[in-house]
Amino acid sequence: MLGLMQDQPLLISSLIEFAELHHGDAEIVSRRVEGDIHRSNWKEVAARSRQVANALEAEQLLFSDRIATLAWNGYRHLELYYGVSGSGHVLHTINPRLHPDQIAWIANHAEDQILCFDINFLPLVQAVHARCPTVRKWVALCDADRLPADSGIPNLVSYESWIGAQSTDYAWPTFDENSASSMCYTSGTTGNPKAALYSHRSTLLHAYAAALPDVMCISARDSVLPVVPMFHVNAWGIPYSAALVGAKVVFPGSALDGKSVYDLIESEQVSFAAGVPTVWQMLLGHLQANHLKFSTLKRTVIGGSACPPAMINAFQEQYGVEVLHAWGMTEMSPLGTLCTLKNKHLTLPPEAQTAIRMKQGRAIFGVDMKVVDGDGKRLPWDGKTSGDLLVKGPWVVKEYFKGEGGDPLIADEEGRGWFPTGDVATIDEDGFLQITDRSKDVIKSGGEWISSIDIENIAVAHPAIAMAACIGVAHPKWDERPIVAVVKKPGAEVSRDELLAFYQGKTAKWQIPDDVVFVEAIPLGATGKILKTRLREQLRDYRLPGV
Ligand code: ADP
Repeated sequence: MLGLMQDQPLLISSLIEFAELHHGDAEIVSRRVEGDIHRSNWKEVAARSRQVANALEAEQLLFSDRIATLAWNGYRHLELYYGVSGSGHVLHTINPRLHPDQIAWIANHAEDQILCFDINFLPLVQAVHARCPTVRKWVALCDADRLPADSGIPNLVSYESWIGAQSTDYAWPTFDENSASSMCYTSGTTGNPKAALYSHRSTLLHAYAAALPDVMCISARDSVLPVVPMFHVNAWGIPYSAALVGAKVVFPGSALDGKSVYDLIESEQVSFAAGVPTVWQMLLGHLQANHLKFSTLKRTVIGGSACPPAMINAFQEQYGVEVLHAWGMTEMSPLGTLCTLKNKHLTLPPEAQTAIRMKQGRAIFGVDMKVVDGDGKRLPWDGKTSGDLLVKGPWVVKEYFKGEGGDPLIADEEGRGWFPTGDVATIDEDGFLQITDRSKDVIKSGGEWISSIDIENIAVAHPAIAMAACIGVAHPKWDERPIVAVVKKPGAEVSRDELLAFYQGKTAKWQIPDDVVFVEAIPLGATGKILKTRLREQLRDYRLPGV
C-alpha cells in the first residue's frame, strides 16, 4: 500500500518561490566587484531569476544544457543559481582561481553553452574564449555601459542588457526531481578534474539538512555571510538554505581581506558566517591588530581544511563566537559532519569541550559513514582506530559526470555502494569523526586543491629531471604548501630557481611549489609507486624557507 500524500517533486524553483512569497523583503546585500554596496531582496532576486529563465528560453537551449559562471559571491550570481537550475538547465560554477588551461578544459568537458563572468575576469575570458567552442554566448555580469568596446570576444553581452529585455513573468517548469541542477569540478588525484553532478532532489535535501539546529542553525532571524565562494561547492549550500528559511544574505564579492570582511559583518549585522580557515585567519589578524570586537556575529562554520585549535579558542574565548567545525567534500554537496556538542558535553570543563570541537564532528542525518581497514572491514568507533573513511547518502555522488573514472563506489557485504572519501579518520563512541590523514594524493592550500601529479608531471618534463615527487608541508597561513623532491638525471644540472621558473605559465601561480628539494633517490614501493608516506617521513625535519 502506498501512502496517500501528494507527489510533489523537490525542485530548486520551489525555494525561490517560497522565499519571494514569505520573505520577499529579507535583504540580499552584495559588495560588488565594482566596489560599491548593492541592496536587493528575495522578491527582486526572484523576479530577476525569472528574467534569466526567459533569457535562457530565448537561446533555445536543450533541457540540462550547462550554463557556466566565473564569478564571486553576489546577487547576480544568486539570480543565476535560481534562473538556470529552476528553468531545467545545469549551473556549472567554475573556479576562477584555476589556470586558464584548466578552465578551458573544464568548459569543454562540460560543454558549456553560455558562460557568465564577473567583469574583473575579462582578461581570463579573453585568454580562454577561443578555446571554448561550445560556448555560444559570453555574458559579463555588469551594466551595458561597462562593457569594453573592443574586447575581442565574439557574442559578448552585458548581463543587464541580456536579462533587462525579458519579462519577469515566467512559470517555473515541473520535471523529475532527480534531474541535474548544478555541477562542480574537483581536481581529482589523477590528472583531469571530475565533476559532481547534483540533482534538484539532492540539493533540496541538503538544504533542509544544512539549516538544522545542530548543523548551520540558520533562520529568518539571521544575517548570513557566505565567505566561502559560490564556485566552491555552491557556497556549502548556503544560497539554497538561506532561501529555505528566508534569511538575509550578505555577499562579500572579491574583497576577502580581514578589513573588508569585518566591515561587512559589522555594517550588515551578520550573525552567521562561513569560510575556510585561511580567510578567518586574515579576519582574526585584523581584529587583533586593531583591538576590535564583533557586535553581532554569533556563529561561524569553518571547514574545507582542519580548523587550528588556536582559531577555535580565539573565536570562542576572545570574541564569543561559536565555532562549528565542519567536514565535507565536493562529492557530498558538501556537508558530511558538523561539530556541535551534545547535551552531556555542556558540563565538561572548557579544555575538554575544545578537544571535542577540534574534531570534524558528527554525521548529519542523511550521511552514513564508517571507517574500514585495508580489507574493507568495519573498524570500531573508539576514537583511536583509524581507517579509510567511506560515506553514503542521498547527497553523495554515485558516479562522476560522463562516467569519468569508472564506478567510484565500493560495495559492502550487502552490495550497497559506499563512496571512498580518500580521508583517513577515527570515529569515537559518540560518533564524532576526526580526520587524521589523507590517502588521496593531493595538497590543499588555502582551501584549494593542488594535484601533486600535475606538479610532478611538470618537473619531469624538465630535461634535467629524472624523477619527481610532490608532497604538502605544513604552513601557518595556507595550512599546506607543496614542495617537490627531485632526482636529477646523471650529469644533468638545474638549480632550484631554474626549476621553479620552469613552472611559470604551466600551472596557476599559487599552485607552483614553494621549494625544490634535491634528493639522491625517491622511495618506491614494490609496484614502483612513489611511497609518499616514506618521503614525508624522510623530510620530517624539512622547514619551508622563510616560515
Ligand atoms: P570542501 O573544501 O568544500 O570541503 P573539497 O571537495 O574541495 O570540498 O575538499 C574535500 C576534502 O577537504 C576532504 O576530503 C578533506 O580531505 C578536506 N577537508 C574538508 N574539510 C576538512 C576539515 N574540517 N578538516 C580536515 N580536512 C578537511
